[in-house]
Amino acid sequence: MKESRNKSIAIAGAGLVGSVVACYLAQRGYQVDIFERRADPRLVGSEHGRSINLALSNRGWLPLKEIGLESEVKKLIIPMNGRMMHDTSGELTFQPYGKEGQAINSISRGGLNMLLLNAAEKAGCSTHFNCQVEHVNFETAELKFRNGRTFSADIIIGADGAFSAIRSQMQRTDRFNYSQYFIDYGYKEMTMPASITGDHLMEKNALHIWPRGNFMLIALPNLDGSYTCTLFLPFEGKNSFENLDTDEKIKEFFATTFPDVIPLIPEILEDFHDNPTSSLVTIRCFPWRNGNVLIIGDASHGIVPFYGQGMNSGFEDCRVLNKLLDEHDDNWDEVMEIFQDLRKPDADAIADLALRNFVEMRDLVADDDFLLRKKIEARLHDAFPDEWVPLYTMVTFREDIRYSEALERGHHQARIMDKVMANPNIHEDWEKLDLKAIVDQLKPQ
Ligand SMILES: Cc1cc2nc3c(=O)[nH]c(=O)nc-3n(C[C@H](O)[C@H](O)[C@H](O)COP(=O)(O)OP(=O)(O)OC[C@H]3O[C@@H](n4cnc5c(N)ncnc54)[C@H](O)[C@@H]3O)c2cc1C
Repeated sequence: MKESRNKSIAIAGAGLVGSVVACYLAQRGYQVDIFERRADPRLVGSEHGRSINLALSNRGWLPLKEIGLESEVKKLIIPMNGRMMHDTSGELTFQPYGKEGQAINSISRGGLNMLLLNAAEKAGCSTHFNCQVEHVNFETAELKFRNGRTFSADIIIGADGAFSAIRSQMQRTDRFNYSQYFIDYGYKEMTMPASITGDHLMEKNALHIWPRGNFMLIALPNLDGSYTCTLFLPFEGKNSFENLDTDEKIKEFFATTFPDVIPLIPEILEDFHDNPTSSLVTIRCFPWRNGNVLIIGDASHGIVPFYGQGMNSGFEDCRVLNKLLDEHDDNWDEVMEIFQDLRKPDADAIADLALRNFVEMRDLVADDDFLLRKKIEARLHDAFPDEWVPLYTMVTFREDIRYSEALERGHHQARIMDKVMANPNIHEDWEKLDLKAIVDQLKPQ
C-alpha cells in the first residue's frame, strides 16, 4: 500500500453516493469512516414502508462494476427497454430508448443503499449511524456532530445530499458561488400493487408515462410485481396540487386524465393524502473543495429527476475521483483541484439537460413531429453510428462521452434537425432523405 493511503477519510452521508465513494476508497486501502444522520436502514427499514425506485443507466453501472458489485446489483434490477406511453383513452405506444439490448434499469433505492452499505463494510469501512454532522473545520478536517461527538480525519468528503450541512458551511466562506432554483412543480409517489398472483399488471420491461401537456404521471416496475408511480404536477394553477383539495376533485382528476390507472391503484385517495408532496430543486455551486474537504453527488450538484441522472452522475463523480487518484499517485491536493474543474462543466450540463427533458417527457413524447424527429435520428445513428449519436443515447448509454460534450453535440445536431424538420413535406418524404448529406453538416464548414 502506498504511504499516502495511510490517510484517514471521513465521509458525511451514507446515501447512495457516500457508500459508493466509501467502497472505492476502502478498496484503495484508506481507513474510511462514514457518518450518517439517519438510523441504519438495514435495521429500521428504509422509505417508511414505501418502495421508491430509480433508473440506473450506464454511467451508474460502470462504477458499480468497478467496485465489484455487478452480479449482486443485477439481482435487484428490472431492465426497461423503452417508454410505454398511455394516452387518455388508454391506448398504448411503445418507444424504444435505444438500439436492441439497450435499457435503463429500475432499482429500489433502499435495496441498492443497503447492498452498498454491506459492500462498504466488507471493504473495511466503519459505519456510524445517528450521527448528524453539524460543523466542519475545513483546515483541520474535524467534524462535529449533533450528539456532541467529534471526529478528525485527513480528508472529509461531503456526500450529504442536496441540503448538505457541509455545503451550507461552505456558503458562509468568501467567494463561494451558490444558487438554488425550485421549479413550480412538485411530485407525489403512489403505489400500484401487484396482481393477487404477484405479477406485474402492466408491461414490466418499460418505463410507463402518461404525458398530459404540462403535467405527467410515470411508473417504474418493482421486483415484487408492484410499480412506483410518481405524479408531477404544478403546485398552483388549474391542474395543481393546490386545487386537488377534496376527494371528489382527486377522483375526478384521475378519472378524466389517467382513466386506465384508476383500477390499478385501489388506494389512490389514501396514497394521495398520506404521501408527501415534495419539491424539485436544481443546486449549483462552486468551488466544491475547501481545504481538506470536498463535496460530491447531490451536495455539489442537485438536479431535477427528468433525465434519471442524479444518482448516475453522483456515481460517475466517484469513478472520476478514483481515476484521478490513480493518475496522480493519491496526491489529494492535486486531485481535488482537478476533480472540481473537470466535473463542474459536466454537472452544469446535466442540470440543464434534466430541466429541458421535463418538457420532452410531459409533452413532446406524444407529439408527431417529435416522434418523426426521433425516427430520423435513429436512422442517422444506424447509418453513421459514430458520427450521429442521439442526445438521449449519449447521456444514457455512452458513459465514454462527457455530459458537457453530449450537450454541445446535442445542440449542434438539434440545429441540423430543425432544418430537416422545416421541410413542409417531411412527414411524407422522410424515408427519401439523403442521410450522408445531413451527417456532413456536422463537419466544421
Ligand atoms: C423523485 C426523484 C426521482 C429520482 N430518480 C432518479 C433516477 O431515476 N435516476 C437517478 O440517477 N437519479 C434519480 N434521482 C436523483 C437521486 O435520488 C439523487 O441524485 C441521489 O440520491 C443522490 O445521492 P447522494 O448520496 O448524493 O444524496 P442522498 O441520496 O440525498 O444521500 C445523502 C445522505 O446524507 C445523509 N445526510 C444528510 N445530511 C446529513 C448530515 N448533516 N450528517 C450526516 N448525514 C447526512 C442523508 O440522510 C442521506 O442518507 C431522483 C430524485 C428524485 C427526487
